[in-house]
Amino acid sequence: MSMMSEYTIKTQICDICRKMWQLGWGAANDGNVSVKSDRDTFLVTPSGIGKSDITPEMIVKINTSDVILENSEYRPSSEIKMHLRCYAERNDIGAVVHAHSPCATAFAVAGKPLDDDALIEAVLTIGCVPVTPYATPSTEEVGDSIAPYLQNHDVLLLQNHGVIAVGVDLKTAFQRTETAEHWAKISLNARLLGGAQAISKENVDKLCAMRNEYGITGRHPRHK
Ligand SMILES: [Zn+2]
Repeated sequence: MSMMSEYTIKTQICDICRKMWQLGWGAANDGNVSVKSDRDTFLVTPSGIGKSDITPEMIVKINTSDVILENSEYRPSSEIKMHLRCYAERNDIGAVVHAHSPCATAFAVAGKPLDDDALIEAVLTIGCVPVTPYATPSTEEVGDSIAPYLQNHDVLLLQNHGVIAVGVDLKTAFQRTETAEHWAKISLNARLLGGAQAISKENVDKLCAMRNEYGITGRHPRHK
């Protein structure tokens, strides 16, 4: 993490934000991204700027107490408390991506978890995705509502709100969000076709044991 220059990380955050916008993962200023740049410092997307308009100069540098260390021209994302709580809960987290991607958010709005163990890629990478209790955005409520779930999951659906994914680095957190959104689309369509057919417990176990062969590192999130 610290091997990479801060400017490089800022550029990567902007790349991810542009992808989020291109993928239609939010309207207006929805969504936010952060990266742990050092032990106690974080680079965060600015508040109130559309994801396609963010440049490296706008990325805000803060510490664990949300004190702005650099770039006071911009405020950190309003959801920064939620991000900081993720880093505080788990040492292995190096980046957090939060989006209002339409399909995963539809499941969050409907209060339905993505837990049918029906898609191989999802089983391999993100396990099941629970819905966390309703919380008022930008308050400590959000952190409190997600903390218990973070211990066993890398992707969460925030009730009536959106999706959040954590990862060792930005690419991992982004790809987990992408997998969740893709899975949500497939799951929704499968429901129109009469429902997804779950993979058997035996085969789920087999897939989980193959994670290394696929180059998937890190602990495996809990299944049902
Ligand atoms: Zn949000």
